[in-house]
Amino acid sequence: TNHRHTERFFSTCCYCGVGCGVTVYKDRKGRITVEGSPDYPVNKGMLCSKGLNLHYTVNDRQDRLLYPQMRMNRSMPLQRVSWDTALDRAAAVFRSLIARYGPDSVGFYISGQCLTEEYYVVNKLMKGFIGSNNIDSNSRLCMSTAVAAHKLSLGEDSVPVSYADIELADCFFVTGANPAWCHPILWRRVEAHKAANPRVKIIIVDPRRTDTAAVADLHLPLNPGTDSTLHYAIGRLLIEQGHLHPDFIMDHTEGFESYRQRVFARTVTEAAAICGLPEEDIRKAARWIGAAKGYLSMWTMGLNQSASGVNKVLSLIDLHLLTGKIGIPGSGPFSLTGQPNAMGGRETGGLANLLPAHRDLANAEHRRAVQDYWGSGPLSAKPGLTATEQFEALAEGRMKAIWIMGTNPLVSLPDVRLAEEAMKKARFVVVQEVSRRPETLAYADLILPAAAWTEKEGTMTNSERRISLLDKIVDPPGEALPDSVIFSRLGQKMGFSGFDYEGPADIFREHALLTKGTSIDISGLDYAILRDRRSVQWPYPTDGGAASAEGTPRLFIDHKFYTPSGKAVFHAPTDEVRSEQPDDDYPLILTTGRIRDQWHTMTKTGKVNKLKQHIPQAFLEIHPDNARELGIAEGDIIVARSRRGDVRVPARITDGIKKGTVFLPMHWGKILGNDLNRTNNVTNKLLDPVSKEPDFKFCAVSVEKY
Ligand code: SF4
Repeated sequence: TNHRHTERFFSTCCYCGVGCGVTVYKDRKGRITVEGSPDYPVNKGMLCSKGLNLHYTVNDRQDRLLYPQMRMNRSMPLQRVSWDTALDRAAAVFRSLIARYGPDSVGFYISGQCLTEEYYVVNKLMKGFIGSNNIDSNSRLCMSTAVAAHKLSLGEDSVPVSYADIELADCFFVTGANPAWCHPILWRRVEAHKAANPRVKIIIVDPRRTDTAAVADLHLPLNPGTDSTLHYAIGRLLIEQGHLHPDFIMDHTEGFESYRQRVFARTVTEAAAICGLPEEDIRKAARWIGAAKGYLSMWTMGLNQSASGVNKVLSLIDLHLLTGKIGIPGSGPFSLTGQPNAMGGRETGGLANLLPAHRDLANAEHRRAVQDYWGSGPLSAKPGLTATEQFEALAEGRMKAIWIMGTNPLVSLPDVRLAEEAMKKARFVVVQEVSRRPETLAYADLILPAAAWTEKEGTMTNSERRISLLDKIVDPPGEALPDSVIFSRLGQKMGFSGFDYEGPADIFREHALLTKGTSIDISGLDYAILRDRRSVQWPYPTDGGAASAEGTPRLFIDHKFYTPSGKAVFHAPTDEVRSEQPDDDYPLILTTGRIRDQWHTMTKTGKVNKLKQHIPQAFLEIHPDNARELGIAEGDIIVARSRRGDVRVPARITDGIKKGTVFLPMHWGKILGNDLNRTNNVTNKLLDPVSKEPDFKFCAVSVEKY
């Protein structure tokens, strides 16, 4: 590349949780180009198709929101207003609703795309000063199951491993994930490791034979929802074959006896029948896991987005406790984060049931510590409404106002037509956004233009606890402002103290010091260190307690866990499938997922022509036997219908999907005003009872030719 007349900056890709380092060059006209940073430990110069096209999303500003807009009621047109007018109105409406109906009458629905500093400020504003916990992130649709399972098993929401463990592992159990498409650079590291070490075993668990399964030594196309049954069968075989680690179990875990009883409650033959898998394949998986020196399990939405997601993840982590494969090189349960900064959001406590630095909402001492630090009013002990619950509350009139930022719920929420009803009923809707594309804008009483990636400075944390600093490279267009500035000004307009920040470095330092003494202590970290090192892995305490200047690559090396007893906990919950079961009217199981070149609801990737080439339109994947029975040919337009709604897309016939299961990509919303493509017309908002994460991966549908 010819980089003459250019300035060089560093950033982190704003799409997935892999968190690739990006070197950004800016020319004299302010236009940018990107390349993978060669020396960045995550990606070593590589970028996937989405990352390679990041500059288009920055340089093309056609679709950007440029100034605040407001209307006094929905029958009036939106009008351009000043920031002062916009935020005065927002503060006044919020204050009057809170005075009349209490603080729980308002809510914030934010995003795993937020920078940590933005998460921190809005969470402080809501929990500390407005006095409600009704602030949830779209991470609820993504990582909240992993959060809950980590807490139950390990005592806290902590990912024990690093990407560097990939090259140290000799057996991979990848389940409910398609990293070849959804975490591409991480998966290239696994592929390269396998190519250099052919004896490395890769086991893929997925009802679909995805591109990830293409490199697998063993593909287990299980019946959707039967993951815990499979994990328990493997657990039983590991015990029978003597692959358990008795000393580790004795000294560092509790709950083994009830776990043992659970896994012996079913024979492997019975489990194989339930999972729809050859018994020999389950035995083979158990042999490989048992023989491994380094055993990594990787999972993402296939386990998390489930009505029994927490149970599935717990039973997966059990396999690590059984074999002692945690806190040692090349081993551990590895939750692959969906969004770029879902992890940073969790650090600041940016979900309806969390407090900063993994403190506990239910713990009075924890609430007190945060209140004292903020100098705020008392923190409410009552968990806030989660993502889907906020929209239910709006529809029922329990919540009056919602502030939506950096997320597009009218495409991404399950059973999405209900969310549309909620938006119609809401008294006051604020949409704080980068793009003119989101469907939510049609319902907004107030639109606030936000700065996008490269237009503001801040930090994010990727899947391996790596905090990185993203440079500000270009100015935001029009009057758009960084989200942390918008929330700080709102705090000031509402009359609260503690929101007069000098900038993101100041916010980060306040956040970092609030982690002091916790298990995610980053009190030793500031922007100067991050500028110097570019990224470090937490914890990073003041007293040099981090493993090195790069931070802490691996947790639990002393086998001390964050539970009160210091022991990790076996859990043996039921393996029952709680999802909506198929019947005569809706005989097929629908599962959903991503495609390679699109991101979420396509507000960014949808504007890059190159990214439309791989898969240009929505589709339904169906097995040839099912297609034949239904008289459906390749490319026919079909209607997939559930109890909630329908979707009309072309059929793609493939024997790469389990018979009886169909697949829709999640990305498409309304096109030219019609919602016939929108997968979430059909999905189910049934929630996991613990994590409150919706059951996106399983609902009953019928399919017919249109
Ligand atoms: Fe960005 Fe993820 Fe691709 Fe890396 S793998 S370039 S973080 S989308």
